[in-house]
Amino acid sequence: MTGTAGTVTNWARNITYTAKEFHRPRSLDALRTLVAESPKVRVLGSGHSFNGIADPGADGVLLSIADLPPVIDVDTGARAVRVSGGVRYAELARTVHAHGLALPNMASLPHISVAGSVATGTHGSGVGNGPLAAAVREVELVTADGSTVSIPRGDTRFDGAVTSLGALGVVTVLTLDLEPSYEVEQYVFTELPLSGLDFGAVAGAAHSVSLFTDWREPGFRQVWVKRRSDQPPADFPWAAPATEALHPVPGMPAGNCTEQFGVPGPWHERLPHFRAEFTPSSGDELQSEYLLPRSAAVDALDAIDGIRQAVAGVLQTCEVRTVAADPQWLSPAHGRDSVALHFTWVEDTAAVLPVVRRVEEALEAFDPRPHWGKVFTVPTAVLRRRYARLADFRGLAQDLDPTGKFTNAFVRDVLAD
Ligand SMILES: Cc1cc2nc3c(=O)[nH]c(=O)nc-3n(C[C@H](O)[C@H](O)[C@H](O)COP(=O)(O)OP(=O)(O)OC[C@H]3O[C@@H](n4cnc5c(N)ncnc54)[C@H](O)[C@@H]3O)c2cc1C
Repeated sequence: MTGTAGTVTNWARNITYTAKEFHRPRSLDALRTLVAESPKVRVLGSGHSFNGIADPGADGVLLSIADLPPVIDVDTGARAVRVSGGVRYAELARTVHAHGLALPNMASLPHISVAGSVATGTHGSGVGNGPLAAAVREVELVTADGSTVSIPRGDTRFDGAVTSLGALGVVTVLTLDLEPSYEVEQYVFTELPLSGLDFGAVAGAAHSVSLFTDWREPGFRQVWVKRRSDQPPADFPWAAPATEALHPVPGMPAGNCTEQFGVPGPWHERLPHFRAEFTPSSGDELQSEYLLPRSAAVDALDAIDGIRQAVAGVLQTCEVRTVAADPQWLSPAHGRDSVALHFTWVEDTAAVLPVVRRVEEALEAFDPRPHWGKVFTVPTAVLRRRYARLADFRGLAQDLDPTGKFTNAFVRDVLAD
């Protein structure tokens, strides 16, 4: 499909892309020609970001690679999969699982594209789990002049090439690490107090742990514990087990969520909170998220507790996760084991933004790095100081894209010298 982009929106419909043209090339050659002949290009993945990160601007071309012939080649011997950037995790996971293999972790939803997810530092939870980008072994790109470039792990450019904000070129294919398939049991617990919280013990109780609160009262309404069946049983003495299946957003149907009560199931049907066949989360929402040093988790939670009435007024749910330190230069988890404070807001931008600012002020002392794909107001001049390898990324972008074809307003702000 080709057309004007004026009607293309993101998943949450809070962004309408302003690009003058929208293209869905059907072959690699068509993609290469389109990129070579267009002065401004950005790629749209599955559109699950909540800000203008994918928008090329009014003089640019927005393109989707979802119509390229899909590649999902599993190499069981090498324990790796070569996958098109536009493929969504749900489809990738089903194929990988059918080969008796698994990804190390997944985000809360499987509906997102692989290239779009790793470009923004998307992550699940787990003290030992890096972001989804940590599984990437090689990136294949179509760069500004239409040529193809492969950057494998070990290449000096690799740590800039995965979490790239889409600024280096079109990621056509990625190769990801796999491991033998495993089962996961998911347990939900209720009412975990904030007072006296041993965050390290709670967050480290299983492969993946998420704490949820609506901040109407101090403490957590739910804790989701995802235990790998091949690891020791989860001992979770801090809160009571749920007595019914729950959705992390109060009032939403639990049927949209993955199986609970410890029923063992394949990794890809337990690690995401939301089932692939349903709309994830509430659908009518905005999201923000901040990653900060894990050692500051309790102080940061106390800081949010201090403004909890303002937060609760526009909040659907807040999720607290952990992410292991990541070498990617622009990863929000770069160089530090992180706690991630996520907020699913109501969909009212005007009401939400002042509260986003209050959250950012409350967290300021902890050097928070916002999720690249979510709503934030931290000035980019401040953000730039939080990324020690930003100059290296700037140099890489200059090498691969000397005219700034893949640079939009969002990226220009981030990379400004
Ligand atoms: C309901 C919901 C739940 C979410 N849960 C999580 C979660 O659990 N954890 C988390 O960390 N995040 C989460 N997110 C955020 C989401 O993972 C990110 O916004 C992610 O970027 C979405 O991937 P996408 O394909 O939709 O990217 P898009 O929004 O389409 O694009 C994001 C960026 O990637 C670039 N890009 C996309 N494809 C390519 C390509 N092929 N080549 C080059 N650049 C490309 C775009 O240009 C843009 O800069 C959630 C979002 C929603 C809506």
